[in-house]
Amino acid sequence: MPLPERSYKTDALVLSSRPLGEADRLIELLTWERGKLTAVARGARKVKSRLAAGVDLFTYGHYQLHRGRSLDLITGLEVKEHFTAFREDASLYPFGLFLAELTGRLVRSAEPAPEPCLLLLEGWRLLCDETLVLSGRMLLCRAFELKLMASTGFRPHLEGCLLCDAAEALYFSPSQGGLLCCSCSGGDAARLSAGTAVLARRLLEAPLEQVKMLRPLAVQMRELAAIAAAFRRYHFEIGELRSIQLIKLLNPGSKC
Ligand SMILES: [Zn+2]
Repeated sequence: MPLPERSYKTDALVLSSRPLGEADRLIELLTWERGKLTAVARGARKVKSRLAAGVDLFTYGHYQLHRGRSLDLITGLEVKEHFTAFREDASLYPFGLFLAELTGRLVRSAEPAPEPCLLLLEGWRLLCDETLVLSGRMLLCRAFELKLMASTGFRPHLEGCLLCDAAEALYFSPSQGGLLCCSCSGGDAARLSAGTAVLARRLLEAPLEQVKMLRPLAVQMRELAAIAAAFRRYHFEIGELRSIQLIKLLNPGSKC
C-alpha cells in the first residue's frame, strides 16, 4: 500500500500572520479548495528564510504544504501578488484588514471557498486604486461584506418583505435576516430611508468594480453601516473588529 500523500499545493491568500516561538510564523490562509486553514512557516522570521517573502498579510501566492499532526507546515511558496499599498499607506491599511478579518470570520475551514477567494482578491486589488477616496473605500467595504455574506450562505433578504412579500419593505431586522414591511416589522427591526434599501440591493448585485460609480447620501451610508454591524453581531457574534476601530480612529466622524 502506498503511503498517504501528505504534501499538497494550493493557491491562497494570507488572512493573518503572527510570530510564533523564536523564528516561526503562524499564518491563516484562505484557499480555493480547502477554505480557511492555519499553517506554520518554520524559520520564516529569519532573514535568509526562503519562506519570508510570502507569509505576510496581504499576500497572494502558491503554497506547498505538508500535513502535520495538528497544524500543516508550509514547505515552499511562490508569491503571485503582494499588496504593498496596504503597508505603505496607513490610511488604506485598515480597509484591507477589514476584508481579511471579515473573510476570516465568515469562511469555514475544510470547505472549498472559490467565491470568497476571488472576492477577496478583487477587493484588495480595487482598494489599492489610488484614485479611490474615503467614501469610495467605505462603499467598497460595504459591497464586499454583502457579497461575502451571500457567498457564504448568509445572503440578507433585500427584495420586499421577507414575511409577507409586500413590495414596500423599509424595516431591516438583523435577527430575521432582511427587510420587513411596516405591518410585519417589530422586534429589532430598524426603519431605513427609502434609498438605503435600494443602495443595499445595488451593492449586492453590481459587480464589485462598478461600485465606485455609485454616489450614496451620507445618511444611506450611515444606516447601512448600522445594519451591517447589527447583522454581524447577531449572526456571527462579531463585535467591533480591529479594522473598524482603526478606521474610526483615523477618520473621526466617519461611519463604518
Ligand atoms: Zn410584511
